[in-house]
Amino acid sequence: MRIACLGGGPAGLYFAISMKLHDPAHEIVVLERNRPDDTFGWGVVLSDETLDNLAANDAVSAARIREHFAYWDDIAVVHDGVRTVSTGHGFCGIGRHRLLLLLQERARELGIELRFESDIPDTAIDELRREFDLVLAADGLNSRTRQRYAEHFQPDIDVRACKFVWLGTHQTFDDAFTFIFEKTEYGWVWAHAYQFDADTATFIVECSEATWQAFGFGEMSQQESIAVCERIFARHLGGHALMTNANHIRGSAWINFPRVLCARWSHDNVVLMGDAAATAHFSIGSGTKLALESAIALAEYLHREPDMASAFARYEEERRTEVLRLQSAARNSTEWFEQVERYLDLDPVQFNYSLLTRSQRISHENLRLRDPEWLGSA
Ligand SMILES: Cc1cc2nc3c(=O)[nH]c(=O)nc-3n(C[C@H](O)[C@H](O)[C@H](O)COP(=O)(O)OP(=O)(O)OC[C@H]3O[C@@H](n4cnc5c(N)ncnc54)[C@H](O)[C@@H]3O)c2cc1C
Repeated sequence: MRIACLGGGPAGLYFAISMKLHDPAHEIVVLERNRPDDTFGWGVVLSDETLDNLAANDAVSAARIREHFAYWDDIAVVHDGVRTVSTGHGFCGIGRHRLLLLLQERARELGIELRFESDIPDTAIDELRREFDLVLAADGLNSRTRQRYAEHFQPDIDVRACKFVWLGTHQTFDDAFTFIFEKTEYGWVWAHAYQFDADTATFIVECSEATWQAFGFGEMSQQESIAVCERIFARHLGGHALMTNANHIRGSAWINFPRVLCARWSHDNVVLMGDAAATAHFSIGSGTKLALESAIALAEYLHREPDMASAFARYEEERRTEVLRLQSAARNSTEWFEQVERYLDLDPVQFNYSLLTRSQRISHENLRLRDPEWLGSA
């Protein structure tokens, strides 16, 4: 089969790898607009369960990914200066940059052609469809393919209320996934911070639209808005700077999270995957997991089902259920952060409890198993 993967993010690269592992005769090209070592974003969170799925699919890349994992067990909540910690949560993180380099390396070893600096305009997608047997549209959140065939995919995009910016820092957060809530002159601003390699942590800053407007973040350059965030979180940064790696974006890099759903995931020989097909809010850390596990599933169905149409149908049926499950948890979590001002007057332990159970994926009984002592104090 001749396959074009549009987008060299986790979905595009891992689908290419998975297809080659099923059948080395496939001719696969990955088309990526960026250079090999450009990336937007910092670390991503994966679970041990996802890593087991990756290991069953490709032990080689899974072992390399595992080598670079940062692990942590605790969640700390710093609410107006008071820190409460619960344990037993078990996360692992890896730099997105590192993950992509490992997947690129594995793809090359398997004979996949990687074409960087290939920005595919939407008019060229029709040509790709004629030239290749299958076009995987793994072109991310703002997928041009999804827009080009919008009448077939019928996307439903819900732009959420809060503003956020994805930053990094060399301040250490290696003992816990840390949520920090700071009261400012313009309202509450909070950060989601987690370590992903020996000396770097992701530091996502988020606030309501009203607070964002009042600060004037929309009119600031990235460096100006970073300086304001450094001032807001100064007592947590230990003198370390906040950093951006979105220098290619002009003006403010703050965005509202778009929740993407599509009525259909395929059209003739084009199929959507990863953020192009569906997104789950970053506060439940599942976007990369969805992309990688969808890649495994589609590659499997393409080799198990009698033809491409039935493989696409099985893929969509099976993966949609998982996506909807995570999107439901993500919606609860998103709404919790959107309405956070309702909870901020709770005492710190009650506030922490509310935060931990926000997505309804962690129940009171789960907390009893994870950290009975902390639950007792709540
Ligand atoms: C702030 C934030 C924090 C996050 N944290 C986590 C987390 O902790 N855990 C987690 O699992 N996920 C997280 N995610 C989500 C995760 O980043 C995405 O879900 C994941 O990257 C999806 O992979 P993808 O391959 O579908 O898309 P992407 O990673 O977006 O890759 C798409 C690729 O396509 C390329 N491309 C797009 N259009 C074209 C074109 N026309 N021509 C050529 N190339 C093109 C892009 O350059 C890009 O490389 C987070 C997201 C955000 C915004």
